[in-house]
Amino acid sequence: MKETGFRIAGADGRLVVAVPSKGRLAQPSLELLEAAGLAFELGERALHVPCTNAPVELLLVRPHDIPEYVQDGVVNAGVTGANLIAETGSEVETLLELGFGRCTLEAAVPEESALRCIADLDGLRVATAYPVSTKSALEQVGVKAELVLLSGSVEAAPRLGLSDAVIDLVSTGSTASANGLRRIGTLLESQAVLIGEKRELGAKGEMLERLEMMLRGVVAARRRRYLMLNAPAERVAELEALLPSMGPPSVVELAEKGQLALHAAVDVDEIWDLLPRLKAAGASSILVMHLERVVP
Ligand code: AMP
Repeated sequence: MKETGFRIAGADGRLVVAVPSKGRLAQPSLELLEAAGLAFELGERALHVPCTNAPVELLLVRPHDIPEYVQDGVVNAGVTGANLIAETGSEVETLLELGFGRCTLEAAVPEESALRCIADLDGLRVATAYPVSTKSALEQVGVKAELVLLSGSVEAAPRLGLSDAVIDLVSTGSTASANGLRRIGTLLESQAVLIGEKRELGAKGEMLERLEMMLRGVVAARRRRYLMLNAPAERVAELEALLPSMGPPSVVELAEKGQLALHAAVDVDEIWDLLPRLKAAGASSILVMHLERVVP
């Protein structure tokens, strides 16, 4: 091969990880990588960002391009939206769901429209910025629609006379209702994912496994809280039964006679129901703490 005189990303043995440079996934992706222990400094406009404490290099690019970069081996791994894997038709392995960037691909129509469900879209015009996932999701439910391809502000299409309905990504639904649209059905669910191809990577495969483990630990920790409470010894069995812990809770002796402490990591969604029940079962001095990592 002709010598070009410039360095190719990853040629020095570093694991190259593509990360969204802009849009909704950019900031949470970088925060997750930092929380997983990678140290890096973002330059003003630098696209290649070497980590200072690990043989990893971040490549900041459009999330849309990341599935194909990973598929083609341009980078070793990447963070992107699951919907974008479907949209680009890329063959990549999803290593981990990252728990942010959650959204659904939804069909919506003007409030006053007579259309009620996705089946009603058969034979009609549907505006979308996600033609591939829209087409395949509609086909799966036996609906043939004429797609009107737009690159943004899809919600405006029905009122401009361009389409009968829109199919777009929604996270809170506020954009749809602010534009006088009513949702009539969900076609796809998505969240941010780590993608890669461990088997093909040789020595870099081990690095990718480590990255995956570190991210998995942070994602698992974000879903849990560490609960500590004190209780009279005779009520500990009752309290233990209430705790939906990752494993049996730790029971710790306290200096005060007849009192024990219980420690357990519990699902964050359980806390609302759990605290009053624990209190009613004799718990006191209840502490709820964030966890940094959970590595089973
Ligand atoms: P963007 O902010 O347009 O760069 O969106 C990039 C990715 O963010 C999308 O492909 C989805 O995976 C994800 N996403 C999460 N929530 C939304 C939303 N409400 N609208 C569009 N994309 C979203």
